[in-house]
Amino acid sequence: STSSAFQRVFYEPPKKLASMSAKDVAAARETLAITQVEGLDVDLAPVSTFEDAGFSKELLRVTANFQKPSPIQAQSWPIVMSGRDMVGIAATGSGKTLAFGMPALTQIRSQPPCKPGQPICLVLAPTRELAQQTAKVFDDAGEASGVRCVCVYGGAPKYEQKNAMKAGGGAAVIVATPGRLRDFMEEGVIKLDRVTMLVLDEADRMLDLGFEPEIRAIAGATRADRQTVMFSATWPMSVQSLASEFMCNPVRVRIGSEGLKASQSITQIVEVVE
Ligand code: AMP
Repeated sequence: STSSAFQRVFYEPPKKLASMSAKDVAAARETLAITQVEGLDVDLAPVSTFEDAGFSKELLRVTANFQKPSPIQAQSWPIVMSGRDMVGIAATGSGKTLAFGMPALTQIRSQPPCKPGQPICLVLAPTRELAQQTAKVFDDAGEASGVRCVCVYGGAPKYEQKNAMKAGGGAAVIVATPGRLRDFMEEGVIKLDRVTMLVLDEADRMLDLGFEPEIRAIAGATRADRQTVMFSATWPMSVQSLASEFMCNPVRVRIGSEGLKASQSITQIVEVVE
C-alpha cells in the first residue's frame, strides 16, 4: 500500500566520529568551510570517507571514482541518512546532487520496486538546464546502482518523456521542472503518492520564477510523512518561509560565507561586453 511505513534512518555514526570532541568537530568543519550546522539535538560530525556514511556496498560503486566526499556531502550525509529534513545553503558545482542523491538511492533500494509514473524520489528544479544536469548525475549513479531516473521539463514533446517514464518498468527518480510536472499530474500520468523523498533544488530561483503555486500543489500530492531536502544559494525570507511550510524541523547547513553565490573552488572569469 502507498501509505505503509518506510525506512528513513540508515545512519549510525561510526565510533571514531561519535567520540569526537566538540572542538574536533568544529576544526573538521572549518577545514571543509562548513560555516553553520543548526538544528541538531545531538551533533553529527562530517564524515571523511564514503564508507563512513552508511551506504551499501552496491551504492559505494557510485562514488568509487571519487577521492573523498565534498564538504556538502560530508555534512549532509549524516543528517539526511538519519532521516532528518535539511536545508543546504551551498553553491552549484559543490556535489550537492549526490548529497541528496545517495540517501535517496538508499531509500529507494530499501522499498518495493516502483511502477511507471510513480516515483519514490522527486527532485524539483527551476530550469530545464539544471534538471538535465541533475538527471545526468542520477543516470551515472543509476548505472552503478540499478535505479532509473527520468527528466521531465517543459519546451519539449510530452510523448518522449511519457515513453521514458514507461520504459524499463518505471523510474524511481523523477527530476522535473514544476510546470511540466504539474501538467503530467493533471493528465494522470504521474502520481506522487509514493514520494518519500522530496528535493527542492535552487529553491530561491524557483521562487524568483514564480513557481510557488506549483511547489505547493506538488508537495501537497506527495506523502505527508516524506523526507524533504532543500538547496538554495541564498537564504532570504521567502526561502525561509518556504522551508517552514514544507519541511519538518529542518537542520540547516551552510557551506562558505553569507551571500556567497558562486563556487569558490571554480575560477570565475567575468568579461563585461558592450
Ligand atoms: P553537482 O554539484 O551535484 O552538480 O556535481 C558536480 C559534479 O561533481 C558531478 O559531475 C558529480 O559527478 C561530481 N562529483 C560529485 N561528488 C563528487 C566527489 N565527492 N568528488 C569528485 N567529484 C564529485
